[in-house]
Amino acid sequence: MGIFKKIHADIVIIGAGIAGLWLLNRLVSLGYQAILIDNQGIGGFQTLHSQGIIHGGAKYALTGSVTKAAMNISHMTKLWSDCVSGKGEIDLSTVKILSHHHLLWTRGRFTAGLKSFISSKILVSDSAVLNPKNYPEVFKNAEFFGSVCQCEETVFDVGSLIEILAKPHRERILLSSPETQFIWGSKGLDLIKWEDVELTADQFVFTAGEGVEKLLEPLENSPKMQRRPLHMVYLKAPKLPKIYAHCIESGTKPRVTITTHTAEDGREVWYLGGEIAEQGVKRNSEEQIKFAQSELQELLPWVNLSQAKWHSFLINRAEGEMPNHTRPDVPIIKKIQNIQVVWPTKLTFAPLAAAEVLKNLQPVSQKTDQAILDLLGIKKAPLLAALWNQ
Ligand SMILES: Cc1cc2nc3c(=O)[nH]c(=O)nc-3n(C[C@H](O)[C@H](O)[C@H](O)COP(=O)(O)OP(=O)(O)OC[C@H]3O[C@@H](n4cnc5c(N)ncnc54)[C@H](O)[C@@H]3O)c2cc1C
Repeated sequence: MGIFKKIHADIVIIGAGIAGLWLLNRLVSLGYQAILIDNQGIGGFQTLHSQGIIHGGAKYALTGSVTKAAMNISHMTKLWSDCVSGKGEIDLSTVKILSHHHLLWTRGRFTAGLKSFISSKILVSDSAVLNPKNYPEVFKNAEFFGSVCQCEETVFDVGSLIEILAKPHRERILLSSPETQFIWGSKGLDLIKWEDVELTADQFVFTAGEGVEKLLEPLENSPKMQRRPLHMVYLKAPKLPKIYAHCIESGTKPRVTITTHTAEDGREVWYLGGEIAEQGVKRNSEEQIKFAQSELQELLPWVNLSQAKWHSFLINRAEGEMPNHTRPDVPIIKKIQNIQVVWPTKLTFAPLAAAEVLKNLQPVSQKTDQAILDLLGIKKAPLLAALWNQ
């Protein structure tokens, strides 16, 4: 039998998506000996497939009222912008920002409810109905007769965000294996074991997204999760106008949400979410692509998409279980024995999720960071690629 590398840390985090990476940064800056493991690599599953929008509450206020979800999320805008200006809890001053604003656009006029929301500026301090001469290029077209409103919602290049969060800590982000064993005892999780590595910790935090369900199977009365499926579409073309916008019609959800990205091969990508993705789970891939094509033809008929290559895929949002399967308004954190389980609900909420976890932790032990010295020679997790570069 080989010699095991036995490592003990204050905290071991399982899952290197946005929730795990944000938490790791916070823990290390507070002096905890923290280790993060992932059995795939760095970047997360939902995280690398997300649209990268730091929601400011606009799309939640489409009912015209200030909902709890809208209020909760609106508080996050300042936290993220402080980080981007280098004055926040994590320095994101070098992150690649795709757009400083997200737009709401409608083909007619904004409804009275939405108008009062926009003018109240309760949730979106910097939102304003744009004068047509300030429209982005994509809406400066004679065929467009609608209205456009600008919201204070930053859109990040998620790959760059992940890279920045991972960079200072690569030596403590380990690649576990799909065959990793989680060994449970009377007080909770005792040991994590793969190949020749044995990890123990004072406390564990599960930030494994959809993977949490399987991890918690051996526990009785474990916290439950829910899935909300999406059928996302993206199209790639040599040249596409940049658009970061929710299309608003009569419903209470965006008809389509479009973000623009650039693939490593230089081609432009339009990534489509919103109702199109929520309702699209009932369609197969061919039907979904056809539907998306007809939506864009109707909504943006002047944009030439003849060169585009279309793709679609199914993905689940993993959330803490809610009564009647409703969407949570906040991150869901559950504490059980020596574990905390975290579903951030949104990329936007990752800082809030980390803050909640920190509240439940024992104070830091003022030891040297011995755990890190012990990690020498253990396989480190690679950075995973964005969806359009895979
Ligand atoms: C299509 C889509 C678009 C979205 N767009 C937005 C948006 O624009 N703005 C926004 O705020 N939110 C958005 N969201 C929500 C947001 O992406 C998620 O809430 C967030 O990324 C969840 O992060 P996470 O770290 O909890 O999970 P994940 O990103 O899913 O990461 C979980 C990690 O755990 C690892 N893991 C799983 N099982 C194990 C195991 N047994 N051992 C070790 N590791 C394991 C996985 O490999 C993965 O790396 C979107 C979600 C989807 C699906």
